[in-house]
Amino acid sequence: MKPLSPLCRLFCAFPLRQKLMAITLLTSAIVLSVAVSALIVNETITSRRAIREELLALADIAGKNAAAAIMFNDQHAANETLAGLSANPRIIGAYLLDQDGRLFASYHLSGEAEAQMWREKLNNADSLRDWGHGFPVAKKILVDGKPVGTVVIHSDMVELHKKLRLFLGVVAMIMLASSALAYLLARWLQGLISRPVMELATAMKRVSTEKNYALRATAASNDEIGDLIGGFNEMLGEIEARDEILKQRQEHLQLLAHFDTLTRLPNRMLFNDRLTQALYQAGRTEQKMAVMFVDLDHFKDINDTFGHRIGDLLLELVAVRLQHIIRSCDTVARMGGDEFTLFVQDVKTAENACLVAQKIGSELADLYLIEGKEVFVTASIGIALFPEDGMTVDELLRCADTAMYQAKENGKNHFEFYSKEMNVRTSQRLEMQKHLCQALERDELELYYQPKVAVASGRVTGMEALVRWRHPDQGMIPPGRFISLAEESGLIIRLGEWVLRSACQQVMAWQAEGYEPLRVAVNVSGYQFRRQNFAATVAGIVAETGFDPAFLELELTESTIMRNVEATVGTLNALKEMGVHIAIDDFGIGYSSLSQLKRFPIDSLKIDRSFICNVTSSKDDLAIVVAIIAMARSLGLKIIAEGVETAEQMAVICEQGCHEMQGYHFSRPVPAMKFIEFLRRREAAPRLTGDLAAAVDGAVDHAA
Ligand code: C2E
Ligand code: CA
Ligand code: CA
Repeated sequence: MKPLSPLCRLFCAFPLRQKLMAITLLTSAIVLSVAVSALIVNETITSRRAIREELLALADIAGKNAAAAIMFNDQHAANETLAGLSANPRIIGAYLLDQDGRLFASYHLSGEAEAQMWREKLNNADSLRDWGHGFPVAKKILVDGKPVGTVVIHSDMVELHKKLRLFLGVVAMIMLASSALAYLLARWLQGLISRPVMELATAMKRVSTEKNYALRATAASNDEIGDLIGGFNEMLGEIEARDEILKQRQEHLQLLAHFDTLTRLPNRMLFNDRLTQALYQAGRTEQKMAVMFVDLDHFKDINDTFGHRIGDLLLELVAVRLQHIIRSCDTVARMGGDEFTLFVQDVKTAENACLVAQKIGSELADLYLIEGKEVFVTASIGIALFPEDGMTVDELLRCADTAMYQAKENGKNHFEFYSKEMNVRTSQRLEMQKHLCQALERDELELYYQPKVAVASGRVTGMEALVRWRHPDQGMIPPGRFISLAEESGLIIRLGEWVLRSACQQVMAWQAEGYEPLRVAVNVSGYQFRRQNFAATVAGIVAETGFDPAFLELELTESTIMRNVEATVGTLNALKEMGVHIAIDDFGIGYSSLSQLKRFPIDSLKIDRSFICNVTSSKDDLAIVVAIIAMARSLGLKIIAEGVETAEQMAVICEQGCHEMQGYHFSRPVPAMKFIEFLRRREAAPRLTGDLAAAVDGAVDHAA
């Protein structure tokens, strides 16, 4: 860009009002000056011309009067004629020249000296220029068309100057009046233009200093400035709207960053933050604090059975209850899933923490009515104390988690305080998980078999294969202690395949020895069943061992089949096509109803042993067993009672129309060798008594 000249710079520095004023005034001044100058020039020229014409007319008359005097050389008459011109005060001199240009006669107003100067000028004949302040005109004298001489009249300019001065005075007045008018008009006009612009500028300044985008400039005109103000306001509107959205998003992000979206409780991050603060405070004031880990029992089953929506609604209800229990100075948070944490400040004694935990446990354990469904829930709680169990957030949470895990292990629905021994148990678990991996390779797993007996004939119809771990140091370990470990580590897949293969091989071996083929039941973990290729894996093992799938029964729990119903039906159909039987294990403790089970192609139900155990002592349990048997029969399902331990239990079960039984009353799970021994004796004399248990005396399950 070209640098501005100093004048331009000065002009640019003016405020808009003054610029507009300056432009208007300057423009009108220039226009006025030009007009006035033109007028003055015009007036001068016209006046001069008028004087000249008047003088020429006078010269003509004088010439005509003096013509005879020249021709007759009468100088006196000529002088008199010229003197007649003295009546005109403007004429300061008049001269008569003869034909040859010589001065013949003259008249002049001024003194002789001056007259002499004019005469010389005429004699020099250098025309009529340079006549000083005077104004000379010359007119030839013609007689019959022939020149006889010349009249020269010399006039002064006094009158012309007077006239021009008057004219100038009037013009000056007009100019003054026009300038005043121009100034007033300029003021008014600049106000019209600059006021809205100034208002816009003021509004803009306020917006930028106050950062208040709700302000608006008022548009007073419909011209470009009006458009500009309109555009400015529109822009502010857009900024304001964008600000609002931004604010909302920021709030939402803040919420997402610190709060759980489902329950609106603080999340792990905020909890850790608040706990850090609280610990710092408690450390300074030497107060005790309790950190608790709350986990709902069987939440996964609830989710699987009722669906995630009900699960989510339940979590929301639980969150509300938890928030009501704690004081406003304490914090409860959702860690994810069905895990909640909370801290209680200034607990003073462990008993106080105990009271809080009890309250939480009893408030949460309830039958929740959600969208017409009744959902029963309990919670397991772990408690860690500050400063005894840990000084930091991590330590305290880990201890509370360990204690909660222990509460689960010890039967759920209660609370546990953290103790150092729990850590030992946790590390033992981890150690065991490590060893379990090697157990498969080292051939430390073994299958035990428990017979199933037909109610009608008393004959053995089949057996359930139950896995055992022969630990080199700890002896026989029951599946209850390692199946969940195998599930956690993913080893359950290989373990499950090993069980299925071993069971098939065992039955094939018995057949080779000449025994009638028996139906073998194999337990399938949910993790195994949900694998995409589960049916294909079963088919592969069956083919590999040459086993007839019609003699294979797979036992699945309710929660296993309730998750992802569509996929389950697909897998079950594939298994059914192969001829495999499907049994629902531990029926009655889950949340499924018989009507839900109708959707699945299943063959039998195993009533959970907890009902069988109480069937002779609890009317309620008997009622449940009776109802299950009646409904299952109406659906055409085979019913098996598991955990039959006494003759009384057996009698009740038989009476109710159960098809098969399984339990210690007949035999504990035994190794393959013992099982076949039992079978041989049993086949010799099939009875529905407990003698059989005695028949395999010594074959007592070490693990039981
Ligand atoms: P389950 O499928 O309900 O197996 C029956 C359990 O009841 C067995 O325990 C058996 O010993 C026990 N039992 C049988 N009759 C009676 C009785 O009259 N009274 C009482 N009190 N108990 C009786 P076990 O062998 O300890 O197995 C426990 C659980 O471990 C099984 O429960 C099953 O869920 C799981 N399990 C066992 N083997 C396997 C396996 O190979 N794979 C999978 N995934 N799970 C297995
Ligand atoms: Ca089973
Ligand atoms: Ca069972």
